[in-house]
Amino acid sequence: MPEVVVAGAGPAGRALAAACARAGLHTVLLAPHPWAPWRATYGIWLDELPGLPRDVVAAAPRHTIAFGTSPHVLDRRYAVLDNEKLRDWLTDPGVEVVDGRLGEVTAPVVVNATGGRGRGTEQTAYGLVVAGAGALVPPDTAVFMDWSRPSREPSFLYGVPVRDGVLVEETCLARKPGLPPDVLAARLRHRLVRAGVPVEGREELVRIPLDVPRPGALAFGAAAGLVHPATGYSLATALRLAPTVAAALAEGLRTSPAHAVRAARHELWPPSAQAVHSMRRFGLRALRRMPGELVPEFFELFFRLPPRLQYAFVSGRTDVEGTAAAMLELFRAAPWRLRRVLAS
Ligand SMILES: Cc1cc2nc3c(=O)[nH]c(=O)nc-3n(C[C@H](O)[C@H](O)[C@H](O)COP(=O)(O)OP(=O)(O)OC[C@H]3O[C@@H](n4cnc5c(N)ncnc54)[C@H](O)[C@@H]3O)c2cc1C
Repeated sequence: MPEVVVAGAGPAGRALAAACARAGLHTVLLAPHPWAPWRATYGIWLDELPGLPRDVVAAAPRHTIAFGTSPHVLDRRYAVLDNEKLRDWLTDPGVEVVDGRLGEVTAPVVVNATGGRGRGTEQTAYGLVVAGAGALVPPDTAVFMDWSRPSREPSFLYGVPVRDGVLVEETCLARKPGLPPDVLAARLRHRLVRAGVPVEGREELVRIPLDVPRPGALAFGAAAGLVHPATGYSLATALRLAPTVAAALAEGLRTSPAHAVRAARHELWPPSAQAVHSMRRFGLRALRRMPGELVPEFFELFFRLPPRLQYAFVSGRTDVEGTAAAMLELFRAAPWRLRRVLAS
């Protein structure tokens, strides 16, 4: 019998299974069609994964820009990953890969890494990979968020170079339910036509449940609620946590499976991460309440924060002080019409 079963062969499940095997545990990775290709275009902040091999990066544009009500150059490098290379990197020959579903193979420790579920608040996006995006996404540039087209139900433009062109995505950051793909597609087409960009290319549809509850059983990745409630990102967090969670499981299993699960949970959700998660969820609720026309102004204030505070809110998963400071500083800088929403 294996010592650990990781159910789910997305990036999080693969990362954890490989780390468990490297920690000396007999590990099974269990998923329906475990070798099915990953279709999503994954992006991360390069500084979140310092150990990432170069060949896993498909594109790392030199510039990162954002637009609230005016343009900003961000002091962080964004990267788009090569899914095949990412999977190779997260594949360890010591892992036994089994085609099946959660519950079909038993072990002292079973980890649910079957992805985020839920029909609550979600992020939705409709994207096209176009040959070039002109002024919308300048060459060698990642457009992290462009809120320059205000609306009562706002969405922003995200744009990154990919292997076969430029991915432009109309994104609804957080809504319950998210704006539907046809609405987002119409907005994207409108943007592209106005910019003189031919509206043709491979499609990408995004739906990310944002406020995934923490499950009772041991879970990892999006299934464990690792998704940042206010941005939708979880990949870098899962890849970073995989070795420490695996080490906790290996150490805990020397005593008992219950010890192992407790130790892994502690690595996943130390009190500081729980506190930051609550603050991020507060941010998510504020965003959902915010009248659409105030959203660009809100992000203008966010992108004007000192870079260390922007970093803290986006990436400081256990940085209670930094997250609180970012939120307080934004509140301090906000006009009353925004403060009323943020404080209500
Ligand atoms: C188009 C798109 C773009 C995205 N871009 C980004 C991004 O740029 N950055 C980012 O951080 N996040 C992004 N996300 C969010 C993204 O889903 C997660 O970050 C990432 O995929 C989560 O990885 P995961 O392994 O936890 O879950 P998933 O990738 O969802 O993998 C879940 C796995 O579980 C398997 N599974 C499902 N049910 C069962 C079962 N019953 N038993 C066994 N296995 C099961 C599935 O087959 C799959 O292999 C994006 C999502 C989409 C849809």
